[in-house]
Amino acid sequence: MAEKTYKRGVTTKLSANFKSTEFDCKGKGCCSTTKIESKLIDKLEQLRKLAGNVSINVTGSGYRCKKHNAEVDGASTNSNHMTGSAADINIKGRTPKETAKLAETCGFTGIILYKTFVHVDLRSPKHFYDKTSGSYKTVSTFGGKAPSASGGSTSKPKCPYAAPTKAVKQGTSGNSVKWVQWHLKQLTYKDLAVDGKFGSKTLAAVKAFQKAQKLEVDGSVGPATRSALQKAVAK
Ligand SMILES: [Zn+2]
Ligand SMILES: [Zn+2]
Repeated sequence: MAEKTYKRGVTTKLSANFKSTEFDCKGKGCCSTTKIESKLIDKLEQLRKLAGNVSINVTGSGYRCKKHNAEVDGASTNSNHMTGSAADINIKGRTPKETAKLAETCGFTGIILYKTFVHVDLRSPKHFYDKTSGSYKTVSTFGGKAPSASGGSTSKPKCPYAAPTKAVKQGTSGNSVKWVQWHLKQLTYKDLAVDGKFGSKTLAAVKAFQKAQKLEVDGSVGPATRSALQKAVAK
């Protein structure tokens, strides 16, 4: 764990989509620094991707100093909010239930479902609670698929990139190319880099895939090749 300290009220960019002030303690006149665990931010970025690149808002607490934690949750003296490894969030366009499910799939090990938001943290061992009815009810799953720690699981991998809506070919770049590369990589093209650049290796892999699938070998991932890729990976 690598927790870092930031100045409360001073915006520092933590990652592509999160800034330090979003996690500032919400207490009044209590503290001047904000602790944030970098692994929490990594996970939140993953969650954002998994949700389809929609914004995640820290609508409740991020970091809490000791004083503020006692004010809001007197019973808990070791809240994960106090080490900066927890956040109370909402994902835009998703219900708290859907958010909890996505958080589970993303690999968050501490999830508490509330009526209006979801608490996520990185505790060990894993513990999920449903607190929508007021009291803590332990739940084993929110219906998500937690990634296996050892890779020994047989569950299907999930592509973190959104499926392209237009043909992907040489000249295309970015996440739609990553989507294609990720899918090809799950098949027989293991050493293909998922770098968003449609280079000669990607072109060769696309053509080889099209040939194997008896599709038109044009090196362009249109609707037919796209759905063939999805089907092949789902198998
Ligand atoms: Zn505080
Ligand atoms: Zn919380």
